[in-house]
Amino acid sequence: MRVFLTGLVILLFAALGASQVGVGLSKAVGGVERVALQEPKDGEGDSEKPKTYPKCTKCKTTGKMPCPEHKKSDATLEEGVVYCSFVYTDDLCGGTGWLSCEKCERPDVDAALLKHREGIPDLRKEMVKMDEEMEFELHTVVSEHFVVVMELESLKVGKKRLKRHALAHKYLERLERLYTDYTTILGVKESDFTERMRVMIWANETDQEEGSLRFCAQGAKYGVKLLGMTPTYSVCGTKQYFGGDEELHRGVVHNTAHLLLSAQKPVDWIGDKKGGWADAGIAHWFEDRYFGICDNYCYQEQDTSQGFKGGKWKPAVKKMVAMKEEPNAGTVFSRNTDSLTLEEHAISFSYIDFLIQKDPAMLNLLLKRLRSKTPTRDALAEAFGMTVIEFQEEWREWVADTYPLR
Ligand SMILES: [Zn+2]
Ligand SMILES: [Zn+2]
Ligand SMILES: [Zn+2]
Repeated sequence: MRVFLTGLVILLFAALGASQVGVGLSKAVGGVERVALQEPKDGEGDSEKPKTYPKCTKCKTTGKMPCPEHKKSDATLEEGVVYCSFVYTDDLCGGTGWLSCEKCERPDVDAALLKHREGIPDLRKEMVKMDEEMEFELHTVVSEHFVVVMELESLKVGKKRLKRHALAHKYLERLERLYTDYTTILGVKESDFTERMRVMIWANETDQEEGSLRFCAQGAKYGVKLLGMTPTYSVCGTKQYFGGDEELHRGVVHNTAHLLLSAQKPVDWIGDKKGGWADAGIAHWFEDRYFGICDNYCYQEQDTSQGFKGGKWKPAVKKMVAMKEEPNAGTVFSRNTDSLTLEEHAISFSYIDFLIQKDPAMLNLLLKRLRSKTPTRDALAEAFGMTVIEFQEEWREWVADTYPLR
């Protein structure tokens, strides 16, 4: 049986940021402004046409060898990340996990390794501040857009049990995939984000309470996010709350989508400014995209413990529309995230679904306007040239025509 994630994530919008935590997580530290949205690989941006190099049997012409201080399986995880506490050292490899191959010349690989290595000391300084706050050594991995703290010892991912190091990288990789999806689909510029987003997964409620208090400015046993500036999601990742990796992954996707939306310029959280439909809709939409199911709710005003229609929302919305039982768009557009009913959560998902297929770039514009405090009705008129009534009519027809019955 599916374990539903019962809401109760406390949403916080810190307009001023949480000044005591996470300072200087700017991407300028050890990161590079890059436009390409493909999976980041350190320093490989300039190799348009692949050069060929003399064969080297020692390194298989990769130009680098795993650092003898680390296992090869650990070093391999470090490709494409900018910092990892598991392999951090100021010795031999400088925390990159790799050394230049002595038997051959690969200036491109050397340059990438050097760049990776040079970024590490500054990142290290930032990251250990979190350790100092918590008074123990955190397990932290950093990529271009995210910081992941992974305190679970291991988790079964698919058929394989991943230990903490591999698990941390797995979540980092999943978050980068979400970032790429989010920015590609909505046509969001890299420069629309100024900070790395932090996702902290704790192994017990005590650390979660302490961690969320320190890094999200509010302590709670289950999960808290800090939206807007210093975007952070802190959650207790144990069985108590998540059945397993799939549920945890889905929760992380849902909550990070909230972070992305609020941290994108103009930075603001729309969930308490009558943009609840878009705030929740975006988060649900990414859940549905990867899992075909939505079972995360961020507030507990409604009893969400049973979820809504097993999380399969397209057929549920189709049925509502067929029976003419769906809530009115005008009503949905007046809600904050915490006042959406269960039906309205599903409808909000569907509104986003409709607008994304219609014109994702215009949806991005609409969302920007909402963050600039433009009411939905006006943003809809500007981005899509529709009145609320026209929107509702067109959406109804689209749902009736395209959504599955089951
Ligand atoms: Zn070599
Ligand atoms: Zn690592
Ligand atoms: Zn949510």
